[in-house]
Amino acid sequence: MAEKFTLLLALLLGAVLGSFLNVLIYRLPRGEGVALGRSRCPSCGEALRWYDLVPVLSFLLLRGRCRYCSAPISWRYPLVELLSAGLALAVVWRWGWGMMALRNYFFLACLLVASFIDLEHYIIPNRLVLGALVGAVPLDYMARDPGLVPALLGALSAGGFLFFLALVSRGGMGGGDIKLAAVSGLFLGWPLALLGTFLGCLIAGVWGIILLVTRRKGRKDHIPFGPFLSAGLLIALFWGRGIWQWYASLLGF
Ligand SMILES: [Zn+2]
Repeated sequence: MAEKFTLLLALLLGAVLGSFLNVLIYRLPRGEGVALGRSRCPSCGEALRWYDLVPVLSFLLLRGRCRYCSAPISWRYPLVELLSAGLALAVVWRWGWGMMALRNYFFLACLLVASFIDLEHYIIPNRLVLGALVGAVPLDYMARDPGLVPALLGALSAGGFLFFLALVSRGGMGGGDIKLAAVSGLFLGWPLALLGTFLGCLIAGVWGIILLVTRRKGRKDHIPFGPFLSAGLLIALFWGRGIWQWYASLLGF
């Protein structure tokens, strides 16, 4: 278990990385370059200074408004920074400083970006899935987890499961969801990727029933699946082994 000081460091690092995730969330679905160009206010176009971009703090000090034009800043910015800080803290807490923590933070960051883009635009961009894929190969290799065969089995089972659901349900499940589930297999491996994808469907199903019963949404309204899939995969990453063993013992294995 990591020392208190290094946990604080993980929290701060996660918040800083979170502001980069905000850039990805804004630029990826708009087809903009992710590395070049300074951040600008989406309302007035003013280039933001470093002191406008301090994670969480700038938002609080500016009381959620642009320094130059006073347009409200989306709550998404501090929220993503806080979530990223929490994820970084969680992986260092669980795996200590090392390749496993780095690989798993990268995975969770991809899920975070996919979820917020899906919530706003109802898509999971190919560039994001491709980025996750390109990152997975060297990070898996360096973390020595989950191994080549489990990774491929994880990708096939999770992607195949969603592909099957998409065929049966005729829509509702997008191509981006299927690709994201398949790439998640490279990070989680067999059987955790399939378990996480299944949990995502379960959570989405329960949420859909709640919305129908409370009449917040009709049967035809579109609910993005990305955040649910991500939640299921996150649960599988942290607690999947235990859940899988419990399930196997129920079946008498
Ligand atoms: Zn502005």
